[in-house]
Amino acid sequence: MIPAVLPTYSRAKMTFETGEGSWLIDRDGTRYLDFGGGIAVTALGHAHPTLVKVLQDQAAKLWHTSNLYHIPNQEALAEKLREATFADTMFFTNSGAEAMECAIKMARKYWYEKGETQRTNIITFSGSFHGRTLATISAAGSEKLTKGFGPLLPGFIHLPFGDHEALRAAMDDTIAAVIVEPVIGEGGIIPLPDACLKGLRDLCDETGALMICDEIQCGMGRTGKLFAHEWAGVTPDIMAVAKGIGNGIPLGACLATEDAARGMTAGTHGSTYGGNPLACAVGAAVVELINTPEFLGDVSRKAGLLRQKLEGLVASHPDVFEGVRGTGLMLGLKCKAANADVVAAGHGEHLLTVMGGDNVVRLLPALNISDDELTEGVARLDAAAKTLGSAA
Ligand SMILES: *Cc1c(COP(=O)(O)O)cnc(C)c1O
Repeated sequence: MIPAVLPTYSRAKMTFETGEGSWLIDRDGTRYLDFGGGIAVTALGHAHPTLVKVLQDQAAKLWHTSNLYHIPNQEALAEKLREATFADTMFFTNSGAEAMECAIKMARKYWYEKGETQRTNIITFSGSFHGRTLATISAAGSEKLTKGFGPLLPGFIHLPFGDHEALRAAMDDTIAAVIVEPVIGEGGIIPLPDACLKGLRDLCDETGALMICDEIQCGMGRTGKLFAHEWAGVTPDIMAVAKGIGNGIPLGACLATEDAARGMTAGTHGSTYGGNPLACAVGAAVVELINTPEFLGDVSRKAGLLRQKLEGLVASHPDVFEGVRGTGLMLGLKCKAANADVVAAGHGEHLLTVMGGDNVVRLLPALNISDDELTEGVARLDAAAKTLGSAA
């Protein structure tokens, strides 16, 4: 008989009951070191005392009113993000895919409002992931996501990642926008070189196309800046954020410049839950904790430490690993062994990691993980690799 929960996931055996910082504790009391962060979501770890308090305080006051009324917590979070980013305005959602949906609708509406109604096409790149709704699987376009779900949403042009000439050739007067992950996440941790992001910005400026960054995985401090595009010294017109911003409370946002948002007037878009008082209370606390020079500087310092240790790991297990890639605390181990086997061997050592595309194991620990925990995690990866390597 089909399980009561639709069997769309192949789940590992563990069942966790509590969490503390970078640790998850199962029903038998066994502690697992969490290098996956719930797929880059628990950026401040589990049961962070400040966030627990903020959630509890808000829970005792008010959960939900709908967007029929003003929501001070939503406005406060928006002001914080506006202060911290390129954005002038933003729409709140419950998930990343919804933030991307808003970005796609906004880009099309922009050109509609300008009277250039032929500009409906959106360029996306191979290896990307933008969510599981019909629009976002159509956007990413890979067969793995789309097979069997057609007809897909028309209007997406798929180009190879990082191919500037292909991009230039495709930038005709039908292009409304270009969507890019500054660091590809699900696809296997692939940073777009700064020069490519700059080149993309220049092409958008030349043609008027809107630049949309999907920072759902690489944003919120993960690369050592609040948002990954900042490293390239350019800003997008629209940006999707989710995952880390709620630290586990469902929250996302679509940020935009005033110009890009020109078509999104009253009645054009909405969400029942998006931006509710509970989620936004937590979101504002998360932004406050992450967006300080000290915190972000420490992410970069720890990233250097982790990367150095991982290079050593790869060198001692050349039959299991091929190399390290990524940036900040968004690192990938390109594997020679099957990445699923590496993740499973990690479970045996009570270490949690996440599979990614291109046979990569993703390491997405909490941004406030300690140096000792990073060292411990690499030691566990080493033990896991010993169970797989032919030299073991
Ligand atoms: C996770 C992710 C999404 C989808 O977010 P959901 O909250 O699962 O809808 C979109 N884009 C990127 C880059 C992601 O990592």
